[in-house]
Amino acid sequence: MEQYFNFDIKKHNTFGISALAKEWISFDDVKELQQFIRKRPLTKEKHFVIGGGSNLLFIGDYDGALIKANFQGIELLEESEKYVYLKVGAGVIWDYFVDYCVKHNYWGAENLSIIPGTVGASPVQNIGAYGVEAQDIIFDVRAINKETSNERIFSFDDCEFGYRNSFFKKDNKQEWIVTEVVYRLSKEANRNLSYGPLKQLFAEVPEPSIKEIREAIIKLRESKLPDPKEIGNAGSFFKNPIISIEENNKLIQDYPQIPYYLVDIDKSKLAAGWLIDQAGWRGHEQGEVGVHQKQALVLINKGKATGKEIFELSEKIIASIKKEFNIKLEKEVIIID
Ligand SMILES: Cc1cc2nc3c(=O)[nH]c(=O)nc-3n(C[C@H](O)[C@H](O)[C@H](O)COP(=O)(O)OP(=O)(O)OC[C@H]3O[C@@H](n4cnc5c(N)ncnc54)[C@H](O)[C@@H]3O)c2cc1C
Repeated sequence: MEQYFNFDIKKHNTFGISALAKEWISFDDVKELQQFIRKRPLTKEKHFVIGGGSNLLFIGDYDGALIKANFQGIELLEESEKYVYLKVGAGVIWDYFVDYCVKHNYWGAENLSIIPGTVGASPVQNIGAYGVEAQDIIFDVRAINKETSNERIFSFDDCEFGYRNSFFKKDNKQEWIVTEVVYRLSKEANRNLSYGPLKQLFAEVPEPSIKEIREAIIKLRESKLPDPKEIGNAGSFFKNPIISIEENNKLIQDYPQIPYYLVDIDKSKLAAGWLIDQAGWRGHEQGEVGVHQKQALVLINKGKATGKEIFELSEKIIASIKKEFNIKLEKEVIIID
């Protein structure tokens, strides 16, 4: 266990915001975390469980304890003719795990290449990209209760996965710390090239290898998204809004080119980036903050921004989209104060 007071979290959030956490406690061992909770139930104090800080915005100093589950390791739990079951520590860097799967020819995670963050956050967020979500490969999730320190295995159904959502973050309850995730990966080729740009890219390559798919995705992502090591950001700041078909039909009358796709028979999903772009925000800069030039969904720290400045810009964008399209954008990034 490592414990620090008045800890600067600049290196622990991809926005690169400098802020002080009253306490920072990192655990390398599950038993140690359990012992700690027995003495100091986390539910009784202000705290937040942090992974790689790639989906967080701190709007000031944090007057509580930041808890980091830094458990490492990738273990082959079970193997059948078709599948492998890998148990992975919550602190493993997500893309290290994806790379591991690709190198071993285990199919399923490759479309999620280079998403920043940790394995522990993958079920919480139900991360997704290029037609795949974490829920497609998660078998179960192991977690520790923040009050009792009891361990529980959450089956797939217990996880209640939704769009960038799960049981672990629903209703802001957050009663559990994820310690390990078991993924089920396919030993047989199991390509998912349904997402537009991938389909186009591999139109002439009928059976790309898992390595080719990973490389293509890395290239696509690098061409569109700023690298947090160079420009502070947290990926998509807003969720793609889901609206009713009636609302969608009204919008099409005013904006015939509006991109959307059907979620089910009475709902559709819009591209938040398109709405923000149409409202004229792409490339906008004010002081130390801005909207990325290539991707309007991404808010950036030009170097010395405060969390508050980024938050204020996000609120302006939300108000502008409400006014222009009568749509309420929701933040995908978690605001911490
Ligand atoms: C450049 C860039 C691109 C991105 N692209 C994508 C993308 O394509 N798709 C996508 O889905 N996301 C994307 N993201 C967002 C981000 O990478 C994901 O949300 C990621 O899962 C966050 O992981 P993290 O470890 O950094 O979690 P954090 O940001 O630290 O935390 C996120 C949430 O997970 C919780 N959490 C973290 N670890 C644990 C744990 N062990 N137990 C319980 N709760 C925990 C936190 O409490 C918080 O609620 C992108 C971000 C960036 C910066």
